[in-house]
Amino acid sequence: TRVLGIETSCDETAAAVVEQTADGAPAILSNVVLSQIEEHAAFGGVVPEIAARAHVEALDGVIEAALGEAHLGLHDIDAVAATAGPGLIGGLIVGLTTAKAIAAALGKPLIPVNHLEGHALTARLTDRLSFPYLLLLVSGGHTQIVHVAGVGRYERWASTIDDALGEAFDKTAKLLGLPYPGGPNVEKAARDGDPERFAFPRPLKGEARPDFSFSGLKTAVRRAGTQLAPLSRQDVADICASFQRAVAETLVDRVAHGLARFRETHPDLAAPALVVAGGVAANAAIRAALETLCAGEGFRLVAPPLALCGDNAAMIAWAGVERLRAGLVEEDALAFAPRPRWPLDAAAAPLVGAGK
Ligand code: ATP
Ligand code: MG
Ligand code: FE
Repeated sequence: TRVLGIETSCDETAAAVVEQTADGAPAILSNVVLSQIEEHAAFGGVVPEIAARAHVEALDGVIEAALGEAHLGLHDIDAVAATAGPGLIGGLIVGLTTAKAIAAALGKPLIPVNHLEGHALTARLTDRLSFPYLLLLVSGGHTQIVHVAGVGRYERWASTIDDALGEAFDKTAKLLGLPYPGGPNVEKAARDGDPERFAFPRPLKGEARPDFSFSGLKTAVRRAGTQLAPLSRQDVADICASFQRAVAETLVDRVAHGLARFRETHPDLAAPALVVAGGVAANAAIRAALETLCAGEGFRLVAPPLALCGDNAAMIAWAGVERLRAGLVEEDALAFAPRPRWPLDAAAAPLVGAGK
């Protein structure tokens, strides 16, 4: 099975081809990601109208590049998968409409993919990993612990009651005058910083409720920044390092609940796994903290390679492969409308002010 994947939900225009032979391991035949960082940098964040226009201009070329890199033509493709939500409506329309046109012209299936399902299943593309597993999804718009029982079988066990973690990184960066996108720049600055200099809060630490919260942490960063202004290079580094330390400790405390519940749910599972996915999963300090937690609790930590943590189309193509194999393809997919909001566990109650 060879699937062309298309991703346009935010500020990356991406296309990829992923293959899985009947008996073999999956292979990424190509993975092209065109980032719009330069278009949005001057505004300190993603501007939806600019993003949509950039997707229109770039997508055809990106798809051609993905096919070229895979040494394939459109007729070698078995299905087309595209992100149908959640995300910015303009970009979703561009990607999904293009995918529909290709699928219709080829007479091949179209698979509308939930972007979060792409993040959730990436670890199965790169690691030998079977269901069930526990997922920590940490991205620009979401912070959740999800029980993954199978393809399309997601149960949310925890989510943030205010900011997403990626959002907290981005806002912290902005407060400190670091360039967009914030996450990687906070991590870079933190390398030269003292993680003990500031005693930032560990929101909800020790509480029995499973949720996440990051807005208090952001406020504490703002207060520290204002008190010290003008900030020296070392001040910025120390704030970033202390922020990252607080985030890592908070995550460890919150995820420990999830690991315990997973154990109770699956007492007979010999080698339980925690998967960390989404853009923030690229953060080395967070990975290291989760690694230590998992080692202590008898879990295996599975983290995708850095290039597959942030948004890409290989994860969308792979979700397409998984859906095809599971027989989970929409009947009238060509009529599928993009969904700017689309919880992973679609049956769950609406999110309360969390995520996008
Ligand atoms: P979602 O997946 O929730 O719809 P998104 O697609 O915009 O949102 P991703 O692309 O998955 O989010 O992740 C982007 C986020 O990851 C940004 O907030 C970015 O700052 C953050 N991020 C990227 N690299 C790092 C890093 N090394 N450390 C911390 N955060 C990072
Ligand atoms: Mg992005
Ligand atoms: Fe994402």
